[in-house]
Amino acid sequence: MPPSPSVEIKGFLETSFLDWPGQVASVLFLGGCNFRCPFCHNAGLVLSPDAFPTLSWDWIKARLSRFKGWLDGVVITGGEPTLHQGLGLLIEEIRGLGLRIKLDTNGTRPSVLSDLLGQKLLDHVAMDVKAPLDDLAYARAAGRAGYLDLVKTSLQTLKASGVPYTLRTTIVPGLHTEDDLLTLAGQLGPHPDWLLQRFQPDHALDPALRLEKPMDPDDFQALARRIEDSRLGLTLPAPAPTNSFPSEERTAMQEVASLVAG
Ligand code: SF4
Repeated sequence: MPPSPSVEIKGFLETSFLDWPGQVASVLFLGGCNFRCPFCHNAGLVLSPDAFPTLSWDWIKARLSRFKGWLDGVVITGGEPTLHQGLGLLIEEIRGLGLRIKLDTNGTRPSVLSDLLGQKLLDHVAMDVKAPLDDLAYARAAGRAGYLDLVKTSLQTLKASGVPYTLRTTIVPGLHTEDDLLTLAGQLGPHPDWLLQRFQPDHALDPALRLEKPMDPDDFQALARRIEDSRLGLTLPAPAPTNSFPSEERTAMQEVASLVAG
């Protein structure tokens, strides 16, 4: 069955070595998002997805079929892919080509995530964790209030799934303090892979943030190291939570620090 037309594919990158570490992947960009993160690099895709032409799935499928021998899988990103009703059908079509799937999500649709995981349609999930897990901090970083419980549920769902997953946090000067990140490190506990990404001011959704100076790379690495040390120093797992399109994306993904707790 073809994917529903409700899946509006707004961008297609045939080959990426960055979006699924260790894998050669194509990337599909879906429009629209329920967050308004002030540091978002894909503002156009979030704010005005209809300004971008919807790409033909038949054309993309033909390209994937042609190159699948060189690909490990497909990354589905956004925007927020789980907002699209036809996502499961789209994934089934891609898996029918013999390709694996990584899903990027902001974690606000745990029921969708749970369904996809339950159907064994996902091989890897990368979920954003925008800020410490308290309502005010999260709303400030996400640009929308009222989603934290859903994000916590998605975290629990991922932890219980057995599917490899990565958590991602973009460090934004003026939005995150070191204490914020240490708090978040304690909340996430020592187990997940956690990528810290260095904020890139160019093209930020909030025009005021475009004037911010990016964090010095050495300072960023030093901060990442201090946070990693704090995570490795945990003697007990922290309690479980209760309850640019391509060019910009490439830049952001090149500046990450991987925090892998042992
Ligand atoms: S950073 Fe991600 S979650 Fe935030 S507005 Fe942009 S696409 Fe949505």
